[in-house]
Amino acid sequence: MPNADQNDILFERARAVIPGGVNSPVRAFRAVGGTPRFIRRAEGAYFWDANDKRYIDYIGSWGPMILGHGHPAVVEAVQKAVLEGFSYGAPTEREIELAEAILALVPSMEMVRLVSSGTEAAMSALRLARGATGRKHIIKFEGCYHGHADALLVKAGSGLATFGHPTSAGVPPEVTQHTLVLEYNNIAQLEEAFALHGNDIACLMIEAIAGNMNFVRATPEFAKRCRDLCTQHGALLVFDEVMTGFRVGLHGAQGVLGITPDLTVLGKVIGGGMPLAAFGGPRAIMEQLAPLGPVYQAGTLSGNPVATACGLATLKEIAKPGFYEALSKKTQSLVEGLKAAAAAEGQPFNADSEGGMFGFFLMNELPQNYATVMTTDNAKFNALFHGLLDRGVYIAPALYEAGFVSAAHSDEDIAATIEAARQIFKASQPR
Ligand SMILES: *Cc1c(COP(=O)(O)O)cnc(C)c1O
Repeated sequence: MPNADQNDILFERARAVIPGGVNSPVRAFRAVGGTPRFIRRAEGAYFWDANDKRYIDYIGSWGPMILGHGHPAVVEAVQKAVLEGFSYGAPTEREIELAEAILALVPSMEMVRLVSSGTEAAMSALRLARGATGRKHIIKFEGCYHGHADALLVKAGSGLATFGHPTSAGVPPEVTQHTLVLEYNNIAQLEEAFALHGNDIACLMIEAIAGNMNFVRATPEFAKRCRDLCTQHGALLVFDEVMTGFRVGLHGAQGVLGITPDLTVLGKVIGGGMPLAAFGGPRAIMEQLAPLGPVYQAGTLSGNPVATACGLATLKEIAKPGFYEALSKKTQSLVEGLKAAAAAEGQPFNADSEGGMFGFFLMNELPQNYATVMTTDNAKFNALFHGLLDRGVYIAPALYEAGFVSAAHSDEDIAATIEAARQIFKASQPR
């Protein structure tokens, strides 16, 4: 069967041995329907699926591939590192180099600990915040994702500023009973939560530019209120910059907003596509960690020599002068082009971007919170997703995900993407 769809064949094989056929749920295309594309190889701004069909890649491994795939300097660093050994379980100079490189770019951090995934980093930051403050409660916001640690898999309770309910089976309510889930950008609710529970709040964890409910910015007033209330009540402000760190700008969302968090969680870009993440903050807090302090945290592959080589080589490239100016311009041209194409065809549409991260919405306003994002017309999004996919453009297969542009995307790639979207807008019924 020369014309058999190789993605279908692989998906069937995968489903027999891997739950849902995937190792991370959103890859399964459940939200948009259809068969997930199995990727064979990637280069620059593109990847190719099992049928050898080429796609312009706007997920970039969900953020890490800011230089595009297979950047020569990164490949060279990784190849060199591999020859020196995969993992030692003992410290290396490269870990110091990467720590120094991160701290030089994120002034709010005086010390950093390297781990292997964003989930692990967020979970560890949370434990550290509780250990350092001796408090139990934490605040998170609906629509923000901080990985899949038990205490963070929570949705809002029924009332204002009440404690949340687990969003996953296998998480006992006891484990989330200290997690307050609030509405993003809702200052009144935030103030009420601190008024009620301020003395028991260990930390407030937030994506200050949220990328897990599509792309939603914290308003400057809201972000400042988070900072001020934490300071006032002795709670730690934790910026989860796993997605935004070195993605929205060289100094992350904290640089964009001009707000200094107590703890910062990093991942994605700092590994350049390898499993690597980190969390850090002021020396006095970080020294609460084992082996110096009472807060336990460890990892067999933490600071892995190949992953750190990949991360360091990536950071070296993005720290070059003009990198983010060029990336921002490119991302803005995509966003503006999409907006113009939708407007020309009378489609409700809006979009926003910062650095190499963007979001678009099939509505006229830019949403301020999760509930508004989720009012998106599903069928319309799915038609757009599949229309783009057919035309060789791969965006995130769910309407609540952000998109990513890399340094490897050319003006021609951007133009081709806008043209593909324009054709789909034209074919769909204006409202
Ligand atoms: C991706 C992400 C995580 C989880 O990172 P993993 O490496 O997937 O565990 C945590 N927080 C934010 C903001 C993320 O975008």
